[in-house]
Amino acid sequence: MGIPIIDTLADTIKLAVLYLHAQAIPIIDTLVDTLSYIAAQSDSIFEPVMQQPKSPWLTWLIFLVMIGIRILIGIWGRKIGKRKGLDSAGFLLGFFLGVIGLIILSVLPPRIETTICVHCQRQIPEDANLCPYCGTPTDSSTEDP
Ligand SMILES: [Zn+2]
Repeated sequence: MGIPIIDTLADTIKLAVLYLHAQAIPIIDTLVDTLSYIAAQSDSIFEPVMQQPKSPWLTWLIFLVMIGIRILIGIWGRKIGKRKGLDSAGFLLGFFLGVIGLIILSVLPPRIETTICVHCQRQIPEDANLCPYCGTPTDSSTEDP
């Protein structure tokens, strides 16, 4: 036994540590309980998604709806692609890439209708009155399909 105040202080600290330790165990227990509860809850949330659907027709229905949506986007892609000279490619872009395919299609430049110069046989714009290479006047009336 030394100085009474220090002894008292040491006892108080010991008591405080014991008290905190006793308090800490239920807190840790509660924390573990809460975490395992959350884990159990998230299991029950994700379990139906992760599991194979119980009815096969539902799988087919989802599959058909997905294909249907893809075909619709494909038709839309074909519509945009037609202006760029990409009919079936526009459909395939829409079908396989979806909205990304549509964006690619709308970014593409429109196709320039071309014809062949009667004099030099080079590809020239259809709306040109003169060949840009040899200056021969174009006769677009005979070239029209
Ligand atoms: Zn020419």
